[in-house]
Amino acid sequence: MLRFPGGKTRALTFSYDDGISQDMRLVQLFNLYGLKGTFNLNSGIQSKEHTWLNKDVLVRRMQPDVLPMLYQGHEVAVHTLTHPGLFKLSDEELAYELYADKQNLEKQFKQTVVGMAYPFGDYDERIMRAVKDQGLLYGRTVETTGGFALPEEPLAWKATCHHSDPRLMQLAEEFLAPGSDLRLFYVWGHSYEFDVERNWEIIEEFCEKLGRRDDIWYATNGEIVLWMKQNGLA
Ligand SMILES: [Zn+2]
Repeated sequence: MLRFPGGKTRALTFSYDDGISQDMRLVQLFNLYGLKGTFNLNSGIQSKEHTWLNKDVLVRRMQPDVLPMLYQGHEVAVHTLTHPGLFKLSDEELAYELYADKQNLEKQFKQTVVGMAYPFGDYDERIMRAVKDQGLLYGRTVETTGGFALPEEPLAWKATCHHSDPRLMQLAEEFLAPGSDLRLFYVWGHSYEFDVERNWEIIEEFCEKLGRRDDIWYATNGEIVLWMKQNGLA
């Protein structure tokens, strides 16, 4: 029977966007509990001059020079060069937004970039094809399933839930419940939301519950897709 690496039947992954300063606290939390995440970056606008206000919180992108150290042990992925709405882009513009971001990230982080997250969750058949044409293996949407199945189409990858989903801890219980079936728990969000909503405790509680366990494979999005490919599932 098919198992995740290490003979495990559970896998946990995270996906967080935009390279903003709250990622520092989130990565620290992931590292504390041995968790792995994927961080989706816009290399064309990655500097502290890029800020916006969300409710009363000033959200600030980080300076690029601190990022390789910060995200060490995690995955970085494409979020396009400048975070445009993708539906309005021409094929050429779309290809460039993907290509240039991938190139920049590979150079900066010295890792092969294998996936992306759609800015604003914008995707359709044309956009998925453009992503695939850049050699990317997956694209994360902003849709969720509430379940633990592996993605049938990694180019339209839907997470289990957003971290603010009121079912988060209930889902964690279901994920850990006995059973020999393969289960993937995928959480997505933006780390500034924890400051805006003043609810860091939800992710702290979640990471404490699911972290540092022998029976869970802690993997980046890319590691999961590559494992799926090796096993003929993607
Ligand atoms: Zn974004």
